[in-house]
Amino acid sequence: MNDIYLDHGATTPVHPKVFEKMTPFLQERFGNPSSLHSKGKIAKIPIEDARVYVAKALHTHPTRIVFTSGGTESDYTAIVGAALAQREKGKHIIISEIEHSAVFEAVDFLKQFDFEITYLPVNSQGIVEIDQLKQAIRNDTILISVMYVNNELGTIQPIQQIGDIAREKGILFHTDAVQAFPVMDIDVSTLPVDLLTVSSHKINGPKGVGALYIHKDVKIRPLIGGNQERNRRGGTENVPGIVGFGEAAKILTETREEKWQKAQQFKNRMIKIWKEKLGEEEFFINGDLHGVPSILNISFPSVDTQTMIVSLDMKKIAISGGSACAAGSIDVTRVIKALHLPDPIAKSAIRISFGYGNTLEDIERAAKEIVNIVNRKRK
Ligand SMILES: *Cc1c(COP(=O)(O)O)cnc(C)c1O
Repeated sequence: MNDIYLDHGATTPVHPKVFEKMTPFLQERFGNPSSLHSKGKIAKIPIEDARVYVAKALHTHPTRIVFTSGGTESDYTAIVGAALAQREKGKHIIISEIEHSAVFEAVDFLKQFDFEITYLPVNSQGIVEIDQLKQAIRNDTILISVMYVNNELGTIQPIQQIGDIAREKGILFHTDAVQAFPVMDIDVSTLPVDLLTVSSHKINGPKGVGALYIHKDVKIRPLIGGNQERNRRGGTENVPGIVGFGEAAKILTETREEKWQKAQQFKNRMIKIWKEKLGEEEFFINGDLHGVPSILNISFPSVDTQTMIVSLDMKKIAISGGSACAAGSIDVTRVIKALHLPDPIAKSAIRISFGYGNTLEDIERAAKEIVNIVNRKRK
């Protein structure tokens, strides 16, 4: 029985080509990119190559890309960095109720500087309502942060519309695109965003590296001083990580479409199996079924989240109960709470997320194991 990994929303395995590209930088090419000797120089050039690949994947100029330690730092830098640079203009920030914890932590940090935060609710499909955003905007609003794709539900937020409103009002707009990047062709040259977060380990790159796109007219206060990354993020660069991230971005650009056509097929196949073997009243799809193909959030009300995760784990199938950060505790996640679902549905929500390496065979086995678990519980 092979392992079936269906938790790509939490993290993804490093692509073999990425690994190959990284190893020299853990060995003979160990130089510090800031050094003037040739050991340093041969570590500097690949960083700039990686920046080109990430920039290309987002349709922007490499100078707009700042490498960070991951999605969390990019979110934090975008929000705290932009807010502190803008504090003379106003102290009101709007985020959605379903943001990643990194965004929640960042706005919490800003409360000590007297920033006020509005948390936008979402509708029953897990999507921010534009009318509510319009009502939340004040004269002193300086920043809006709404994620592109939700990590637990896979719902796609109306980023274009939110960005248009923000531009019209002269408010900065940040989007956490960590879960959008693996699936969608993001074009920041046309999308009305000022700051955009991506992470390497959600696209088959290594952990501990990510990037923040910063629009050319936007000033941020760096959180970590130092002259690397054009004075926007200090510290000796994570050379192997950045090189790996660049390679992962390059591979992603070439293979994204094919990969997600497959994921859509997986999602449809699973749902079909459950419809046939359990019946439509035995499960509920949480969030919008038209969300990204990579993520499926679903509840089987007869089996609670924890029981389902543990039972599948015994069959070597890895899924999650929403975000990885909330796992380990059986509490209903903040995102699921925001949907205001009936208790049995909320308490049985699971997230299945597809990626590189999954096969239709695996998907069918996983779907059938779930059927067995549900049937055992129902008896
Ligand atoms: C994983 C994730 C993050 C955090 O990224 P790290 O690189 O793990 O710090 C942020 N936002 C979303 C939506 C994520 O899925």
